Amino acid sequence: MSETSKPRILVIEDEPTIADAVAARLRSADFAVEIAADGPAGVAACAASTPDLVVLDLMLPGLDGLEVCRRIQADRPVPVLMLTARDTEDDLVEGLATGADDYLTKPFSGRELVARVRALLRRTRSAADAGAVDGLQLGPWRIDPVTRTVTAGDRESHLTPTEFDLLVHLARRPGQVFTREDLLAEVWGYRDGSGARTVDSHVRALRRKLGAETIRTVHGVGYAAARTVTGAAA
Ligand code: CA
Repeated sequence: MSETSKPRILVIEDEPTIADAVAARLRSADFAVEIAADGPAGVAACAASTPDLVVLDLMLPGLDGLEVCRRIQADRPVPVLMLTARDTEDDLVEGLATGADDYLTKPFSGRELVARVRALLRRTRSAADAGAVDGLQLGPWRIDPVTRTVTAGDRESHLTPTEFDLLVHLARRPGQVFTREDLLAEVWGYRDGSGARTVDSHVRALRRKLGAETIRTVHGVGYAAARTVTGAAA
């Protein structure tokens, strides 16, 4: 594979030993890798080189990882794998709600890192490939899988890649109830059933951005898109 056709990964990590190890592992898995050593450099590198995926350390000097995540996602949806040394659930949920699509708690193995990066890229691509379908409507929101935009009149709601994929998955079958395990398997590609809180935090983010009524909680079962859809199956 030529250098230009390799998926490009930006690693934003201030600890040189970790940054170098992560970069070496990803390069050996045939990714093109660029490193930024702090938050402002990371934001600048992301704007300049438009990577396919960002590996982002949560604890950074200058700007912390959550703020970096907000800034890089504000320009353009790019999948983010967050690295965290902290594993308290509050930090995790905050990180996911800010737009990280997945996370790894240090220390992690190189194999796990590569597997997560590949899974995240696969998800983003298969969602893009699914663009042949017609647009969907959910309440006031027009969902366009080709341009990956969600609009209501002149207003656009900026979703992260995972939020968009989750929304499309639910909106394609309005009213159908999906369990968290279904969603983890079908949207995230996880097979082990762990990570229910990941689903919850992404649903919370979608409700915050699109309105609480767009996604219904079915207590004890899971989630469903509101049935007031005009144009999906209608
Ligand atoms: Ca750090």
